[in-house]
Amino acid sequence: MKKTSISFVVPVFNEAATIASFLAGMEQVLSQLSDYEFEFIFVNDGSTDDTLSNLIGISVSDPRIIVVDLSRNFGKEAALTAGLHEAHGDAVIPIDVDLQDPPEVILHLLSAWRRGYEVVTARRSDRSADSLVKRKSAEFFYWIHNLISDLKIPKDVGDFRLLDHKVVEAMKCLPENRRFMKGLFAWVGFRTTVVDYIRQPRSAGQSKFSALKLWNFAMEGITSFSTVLLRFWTYIGIVIALLAFAYMCFIIGRTLILGVDIPGYASLLAVILFLGGIQLIGIGILGEYIGRIYMESKRRPAYIVRSRYQRGVEQ
Ligand code: UDP
Ligand code: MG
Repeated sequence: MKKTSISFVVPVFNEAATIASFLAGMEQVLSQLSDYEFEFIFVNDGSTDDTLSNLIGISVSDPRIIVVDLSRNFGKEAALTAGLHEAHGDAVIPIDVDLQDPPEVILHLLSAWRRGYEVVTARRSDRSADSLVKRKSAEFFYWIHNLISDLKIPKDVGDFRLLDHKVVEAMKCLPENRRFMKGLFAWVGFRTTVVDYIRQPRSAGQSKFSALKLWNFAMEGITSFSTVLLRFWTYIGIVIALLAFAYMCFIIGRTLILGVDIPGYASLLAVILFLGGIQLIGIGILGEYIGRIYMESKRRPAYIVRSRYQRGVEQ
């Protein structure tokens, strides 16, 4: 009988220090699962260290390992997309290589999938391994995103999840090249459930996400799934115009009754600066969306594959 096949999609960017412990940790869990067969799709996202040569070396003796080498660093979202396109399994599990997504959780993901769920997300019930700033800013991001967007992203759910092959097929049909994966996963829908886990500290090496990268990532998420920010400025404009009209009526009435007033330099300057600021923010937000339309309109692919390796051999 054919075994059920599971693909792990593992994006790696300068992770030479973590690959061996990742595979050892996975092996402990996978050895308990005899009715499944596994493949590892390692997507090398333009690493500049020994990641690629390590992976090719390990793949010589382990035919389950497929290495997809991207032509440069395209970012985790693009690397995950590449992995989904290369995976063959009946289910696909994107997982980080740094053991922050604990392999034991895979057992729970699989059992929920067996019960008929097509997406099984893993939620970080305890994020004390992340810094306070990261936790608070993540909380703020989910709050603002879900406030202004019709598409609700579940809180504390990352890319670590199980996707039935139907879901993977749906993901592959989405044409955009700027991909906010958490949002896209939520957008495709399907029967979804959640399992909780405790986020672990990184096994080795350092996080690849600086504060600036996370900020840009959050902007990407918010502008990818909502146009409320654009509409917001219409309402601000209406409110300011109404206030200005009321004030104009007041000034005209007062001038007719009391005569010409001595002009107020300070109040005039305050109003001009205030309106200038408001307009610049509005233009900035417009620009944010136009920039995204511009980049998307080029129709460039999300990533480029340099080569693929299996059993240590270029395919
Ligand atoms: N990663 C990647 N490309 C990037 C940045 C990160 O493929 O440009 C991979 C990285 O190798 C790791 C995963 O994405 O497997 C998560 O990255 P990291 O642990 O640095 O993020 P954090 O857990 O701190 O959010
Ligand atoms: Mg990590």
